Amino acid sequence: MNLNELTIKAARVKLDKGEISAQALTKACLFALEQKDKDLNACLMVNKEGAMQEAKKADKRLKAGEKGGLLGIPYLGKDNLMTKGLKTTAASKMLADYVAPYNATVITKLQAAGAILLGKTNLDEFAHGASTETSAFGVTKNPHDLSRVAGGSSGGSAAAVAANLCLFALGSDTGGSIRQPASFCGVVGLKPSYGLVSRFGLLSMTSSTDVIGPLTKTVADAEIVLSVLAGGDKYDATSVNSTYVAEMKKVTPRVSSRLAETITKQDLKKSIKGLKIGLPREYFPVDLDSELKGVIEKKAKMLADLGAQLVDISLPYSKYGIPVYYIITPCEISSNLARFDGIGWGNVQVETDSLQEFYQVNRGLGFGAETKRRIMLGTYALSAGYYDAYYKKAQAVRTLIIADFNRAFSKVDFILTPTSPHAAFKIGEQNSDPLTMYLEDVFVTGASLAGLPAISVPAGEVTVSGDKKMPVGMQLLAPRFFETELINLARNLDK
Ligand code: GLN
Repeated sequence: MNLNELTIKAARVKLDKGEISAQALTKACLFALEQKDKDLNACLMVNKEGAMQEAKKADKRLKAGEKGGLLGIPYLGKDNLMTKGLKTTAASKMLADYVAPYNATVITKLQAAGAILLGKTNLDEFAHGASTETSAFGVTKNPHDLSRVAGGSSGGSAAAVAANLCLFALGSDTGGSIRQPASFCGVVGLKPSYGLVSRFGLLSMTSSTDVIGPLTKTVADAEIVLSVLAGGDKYDATSVNSTYVAEMKKVTPRVSSRLAETITKQDLKKSIKGLKIGLPREYFPVDLDSELKGVIEKKAKMLADLGAQLVDISLPYSKYGIPVYYIITPCEISSNLARFDGIGWGNVQVETDSLQEFYQVNRGLGFGAETKRRIMLGTYALSAGYYDAYYKKAQAVRTLIIADFNRAFSKVDFILTPTSPHAAFKIGEQNSDPLTMYLEDVFVTGASLAGLPAISVPAGEVTVSGDKKMPVGMQLLAPRFFETELINLARNLDK
């Protein structure tokens, strides 16, 4: 096995024992990047020298007796995260030459922990999309089949983890962007609760749902990364600390008292016995691909065989998830992207005589079609006369969606659903109509609108054509801030 193929957990043991060095591990990843990324286009920038320098530092710390955590572990960051002195493009022409003047808090935290930044991954432009096809720098290909997308928007991160270009990658999830590409590429993707991880230094898309989280090879690895990322931050007023989390958990009604206990692999049968896992009807519609349904149900049955109780539940407002998300998201995007005016921030391609023209021409040249579509939709929905009919109404229905989940979590401990309605599609296949692409998010926007933790774990494979099979993921959801319990349950699905 090549070193880049290791999980974080396995590499940890070897690093701590002195069997391998951080430099050797980093070199192995850089070599894999060089070999494979020509085909995948998972990375927009490789930080070769910087990574080797950081690896050297990590080796010094290891030699001095430091152990554990992410010390000496190489990773890739999504290119909508600010990385000081390094290009941060959000896969947009608008920021094609932009070098970030400071680090996102997650990058600072990983640096302090001794993790090694290998480079930055491709995404849909400003994270608007579900396939990386809106990236200004070309689509990322799925390592399981190069004619298919890797998903999105964190497609570069998912493909990089699946192809072993790194030990883990960071993604951002606004409406599924960690979970859906994880499902398409056969890796684990964890979207933490809204507020658990600081958003400082993440190029904002939808500030009310944006969350940063890990894409990893195993659930156990996701837990290690999350423990470094989580925590309050004075630079993000919406972030929360562990005391707040503990208090919130105390006042959240629990179905099973044992939910608070550790669900251990050693004694899974005992620990999940009686746990209630809800399968929402609305997430298993009659027209759901039967093979995919079978794969998910088989996994659910596995949990049932170990003593969990599968409960049929309903989330009646789920059907409004997509319309609500696609009103609120463009509204927030239109506000957040106003800052790219070519004066304070953003590329200037043409000088003009009037300010009005300057904005029009340079924003016109800098943004791609999907980003423009969202800016226009959002501006429209927020404008006088339409605000009440669209934005305000969408927020009201969002409250109903949150209430739906609260009701469900008074009956069950976890919720289980497919992550995506199908496996990775062919490049270009869903491009003709934006609505088709928006419908990709049908199972993932709910958790985003409600701020819930959700994880996609590999569930199996489905046939895509002839005898070609592709991976699909299963999504598990928990009440807000119950990621420890969510991870403990999901850890048992690791191979
Ligand atoms: N596919 C969704 C969208 O296009 C999700 C994006 C995201 O989570 N960043 O909005």
